[in-house]
Amino acid sequence: MIANSVKQQLRDALGDAVAFDVPLSRHSSLRIGGPADALATPRDRRELARLLALCAEHGVPSFVLGRGFNCLIADAGVDGVVIKLDAFRALERTPEGAVRAEAGVTHASLTRFCVERGLAGLEFGAGIPGVVGGWIAMNAGIGTREVRDVVLEIERIVPGQQESERVPRSALHFEYRALLGLPAGAVILAANFEVEESTSEAVRAEVDRLLALRAGSQPLNVPSCGSVFKNPEGDYAGRLIEAAGLKGERVGGAQISPVHANFIANTGNATATDVLQLMARAQEVVEKEAGVRLEPEVRVVGRLDDRERV
Ligand SMILES: Cc1cc2nc3c(=O)[nH]c(=O)nc-3n(C[C@H](O)[C@H](O)[C@H](O)COP(=O)(O)OP(=O)(O)OC[C@H]3O[C@@H](n4cnc5c(N)ncnc54)[C@H](O)[C@@H]3O)c2cc1C
Repeated sequence: MIANSVKQQLRDALGDAVAFDVPLSRHSSLRIGGPADALATPRDRRELARLLALCAEHGVPSFVLGRGFNCLIADAGVDGVVIKLDAFRALERTPEGAVRAEAGVTHASLTRFCVERGLAGLEFGAGIPGVVGGWIAMNAGIGTREVRDVVLEIERIVPGQQESERVPRSALHFEYRALLGLPAGAVILAANFEVEESTSEAVRAEVDRLLALRAGSQPLNVPSCGSVFKNPEGDYAGRLIEAAGLKGERVGGAQISPVHANFIANTGNATATDVLQLMARAQEVVEKEAGVRLEPEVRVVGRLDDRERV
């Protein structure tokens, strides 16, 4: 709950870029999720800084949502302010030859930018849906390449600081599907990516090859959040779940995909609780059958009760 006096200050600072009690299901690729106390889409850095300052001053929690391709949002919704950086879409070549993208740039725009200019290195991201902020926070990647291989620096803003700061790759602590050590409440504003000069044809060919591989192995026509569990060392979560006989398993409207066992699909009316129960079942059965405890890759966000924690 946000106090009415704080709501008024948020309105004064952000105008119609803030709304209250906003259902989040349409902001998540699973099409699941209760309301956010507030949803803010600041139009520029000044509004973002003011928003973060207000949240810090009044103890209102904040959470940055990218495109929600890796988030499972609780049925009971999310406390505080959910921030979306849809307005942060600048995309350019730096004088040093890197590609600089703001946090709200989509994977599709970044891919198009590189294809049109014949810049190689980021093709692996063509099929990883989301925006640059989500990519960095997740260290998104495929088997052979991930964000940490191509990031030169990020720019972030930390609540309480007046100015944003640039952090070079050497000071960033990436691990498998995570960026560790981001200060609480920090917002990634932009990133510089390393690219190499190539040709449009070569970059397009690699993008097309990777997209075709994906189309054959993943259920791309149903709401999902991609891989639900991280691959354990030396194995694949999907293989373990399939070997445990759980392909096609359902709880309510959630189903372990018959196409790829590490995907959970919303078949129409799934709730977050359905997905969480199905995840807990997969963890339990795989641990019993294979002795491996699967760790969630999907970020579970919002108000959960104890029975829902995975
Ligand atoms: C069909 C499908 C296929 C997928 N394939 C892959 C794949 O091959 N490889 C892979 O790695 N992932 C994959 N994913 C998962 C997803 O695409 C990635 O995790 C992606 O990086 C999520 O981006 P997003 O913008 O949607 O982030 P969100 O899901 O919105 O957010 C993810 C996390 O990032 C944080 N975050 C977002 N923006 C910011 C910011 N500006 N500052 C600070 N924190 C931020 C959020 O708080 C959250 O913790 C797939 C998903 C789907 C649906």
